[in-house]
Amino acid sequence: MLTNDQLAQWDRDSFFHPSTHLAQHARGETPSRIIRTARDCTITDRDGNDLLDAFAGLYCVNVGYGRPEIAEAIADQARELAYYHAYVGHGTEASITLAHMVLDRAPKGMSKVYFGLSGSDANETNIKLVWYYNNILGRPEKKKIISRWRGYHGSGLMTGSLTGLGLFHAKFDLPLSQVIHTEAPYYFRRPRPDMTEAQFTAHCVAELEALIESEGADTIAAFIGEPVLGTGGIVPPPEGYWPAIQAVLDRHDILLIADEVVTGFGRLGSMFGSDHYGIRPDLITIAKGLTSAYAPLSGSIVGDRMWKVLEQGTDENGPIGHGWTYSAHPVGAAAGVANLRLLDQLSLIDNAATVGRYLNDTMRAALADHPNVGEVRGEGMLCAVEFVADRDDRTFFDPAQKVGPRLAAALLSRGVIGRAMPQGDILGFAPPFCLTRPEADRIVAATVEAVAEVL
Ligand code: PLP
Repeated sequence: MLTNDQLAQWDRDSFFHPSTHLAQHARGETPSRIIRTARDCTITDRDGNDLLDAFAGLYCVNVGYGRPEIAEAIADQARELAYYHAYVGHGTEASITLAHMVLDRAPKGMSKVYFGLSGSDANETNIKLVWYYNNILGRPEKKKIISRWRGYHGSGLMTGSLTGLGLFHAKFDLPLSQVIHTEAPYYFRRPRPDMTEAQFTAHCVAELEALIESEGADTIAAFIGEPVLGTGGIVPPPEGYWPAIQAVLDRHDILLIADEVVTGFGRLGSMFGSDHYGIRPDLITIAKGLTSAYAPLSGSIVGDRMWKVLEQGTDENGPIGHGWTYSAHPVGAAAGVANLRLLDQLSLIDNAATVGRYLNDTMRAALADHPNVGEVRGEGMLCAVEFVADRDDRTFFDPAQKVGPRLAAALLSRGVIGRAMPQGDILGFAPPFCLTRPEADRIVAATVEAVAEVL
């Protein structure tokens, strides 16, 4: 085995890491942690440190690490048929079975599943389908996409534009002009402190209406949103938000894309966030929880009204000009089938609901009254603690103080991985669904100690 020093050197010399301060990493100023193995909720690095992974990788290892059922399904598929493409009607038992299983679990009114590899490419697919749809309907002007500030939808050209976080735009010449952003449904950061949740929802709706009015509804094709804002801060929507937004979109004939890359397949304690909040989407983006990240696979679930038009389009224009070499990759599909079976067999979504509630309740009881805690919030197996300089005035820390990253580092030194969310001083938790109550207690205890150390 290579020594850790040797690997660390090769890492700095050769490896371009995503979302990393490149210069600091190359100079060896950032910790480079090399992960060797993992089981359930615990990962082990090459130095032998065990860490409780309270963010499930990047909120994706939903069934937990080290599941032999999925590993064997992947190995069997690779031995039997490592690859065949899905173009011009080809399929494999794994990809067809997975499409059937996804639709079986999807909200009502969904028709077909297109498979990709990442959440980003699935959202690229969605936007292309939306544009194709309006071209087939003879509405070439109806093309703009509304996204929310603080939404996260990927980091490609279009999806990075949909993402509403400055870090993903700056110096990349994004957002592209077809994308416009509206108010984030973030009650804690409401414009006036005296607003009730219902008033804040009405404010978000009014902002959306005003944007549609000023741009012209006949130029707007779709609205995209995560049922619960994820990377933007783990923020459940304010009361009545989704039905009110849906009504505006229906009135203006604007399609709705539910980005369920984080929420799909159980993270909120229900199969889909759309069902959880009564959303009726035209497209649903899925990725992470589809395979629990045992293999890369994503999907776009297409609703009935779009599907009819897509079929009409190919009757008029020939085959749809959209595909990836690895669409519906059989190894990924086999991982997906085994993963969805495991979710059912082990009742993991029920566990996400009950232990997730316990984690949120325990975190709230431990920290909600702390003078630097503005809010403890969450839904299902998602939890966030937002830190403020002064909770009475709701003033935030100067970002230069790096309170969030310092808290995450203090947590890590206690053997627990949480995530400093990229905008604001917010510690995020999204553990695997197999989390136990004692593990939830450990997360809370380590957070309390980290807060005592840093604040
Ligand atoms: N959409 C949401 C809601 C996400 O959270 C993410 C990734 O975190 C993406 C899309 C992009 O997925 P990927 O990183 O697989 O491209």
